[in-house]
Amino acid sequence: MKGRFAPSPTGHMHVGNLWVVFLSYWSTRRQDGEYIVRIEDVDTQRSKAIYADHILEDLSWLGFTWDEAPTYQSERLDIYERYLQELRNQKRLYPCYCNRARLQEISSAPHQSEAHHVYDGYCLTHEPTIGERSPSWRFHMKNIRGSFQDIYRGAVDYEIQSCSDDIVLKRWDGMIAYHLAVVIDDYEMGVTEVIRGNDLLPVTGHQIALAQALRLPALQYGHVPMLVDAEGYRLSKRQQSITIRDLQNQGATPERLWAWFALETGLLTIGDLPICKKITLSELLAIDIPKNRLEQDTIKLTNFDIVV
Ligand code: GLU
Repeated sequence: MKGRFAPSPTGHMHVGNLWVVFLSYWSTRRQDGEYIVRIEDVDTQRSKAIYADHILEDLSWLGFTWDEAPTYQSERLDIYERYLQELRNQKRLYPCYCNRARLQEISSAPHQSEAHHVYDGYCLTHEPTIGERSPSWRFHMKNIRGSFQDIYRGAVDYEIQSCSDDIVLKRWDGMIAYHLAVVIDDYEMGVTEVIRGNDLLPVTGHQIALAQALRLPALQYGHVPMLVDAEGYRLSKRQQSITIRDLQNQGATPERLWAWFALETGLLTIGDLPICKKITLSELLAIDIPKNRLEQDTIKLTNFDIVV
C-alpha cells in the first residue's frame, strides 16, 4: 500500500492542504504503507520553487516523514512524452488548433463546470486550420458511463462524452496537463491510494478513462470534504492568516497547531485532548476517525484564533 501528498507549489501551504495531507498520511500509516510527496509543478506559470521548498519545510515542521526523496513533475517531462506517444500510436490523441477566442466562445456555453471545460470536437472532425502556433494535444474520449468505489462516498457514478470531454493533455506552449502527469505518476510511483479533496470528484472519471487507455491499474480513491470558513468559502480561496507560515509567525508550535486543528475539524473533542491542549502528529495517528465525519461535502471551521 502506498499513499501520497501531491501539492501544487502555487502558494504557501494552508489549512486546507493540511487537512488533505493529514487524512492521506493517517490512512497510509494506519495501513503500514509507504508515503511519498510529489511536487506537482508542471504548471510552470503558477508554480514557484520557493513554495515547493516551504511546503516541504512546513511538512517536516509538522512532523510528517516520507519514505522516498520528494519528486518534482517538472523533472519528468520525458516520461510524460513517452505516454503521449503511446496515445498517439493508439490514435487517441489529436492536435487541436483552436485559438483562445474560439475556446472561450465554447466555454461560455451552458453546462461548463469550474473543474473542466467542455470542447466541441471541432479539430477531430475538421481538417486542421494550421495557425502560427503549435497545436495543443487532446485525448479523444469514448462515451463511458462508469462507476468507482470511493472510500468515503461509496459508489460514485460518472459519465464521459466523446468530444465534449476530450481534455487537453499537452498545451500548445508545451505545458503538460495535470491530468496526464497525475495519472502517470501515481502509476510510475506505485501509488495505490489517492486521498484528496472532493473538488476533484468531477474529473476523477476523466483520469480513470485515461488510465484505462494506458492500461494502468485502478487506484483506490477517497475524496474528503472541503474545509470552508464561517461564510462557506473554501479555505484554499481564503487568503488571510490561514497559511501554516502565518500560524508559525503568530507563534504556533506544531503541538498547539495540531490540537487546534483536531478540535476544529472535529477529529477530537476537548475532552479527548490532554489538559495542556497539545498533541503531536504521531499521537493523532492513533485516533480513530469517525467515517461519517468524512462523508460530508464540507466541514466548517470557525475559530482561527486559538492556535497560539
Ligand atoms: N496537485 C493537485 C492539487 O494540489 C492534487 C492532485 C491530486 O491529488 O490528484 O490540487
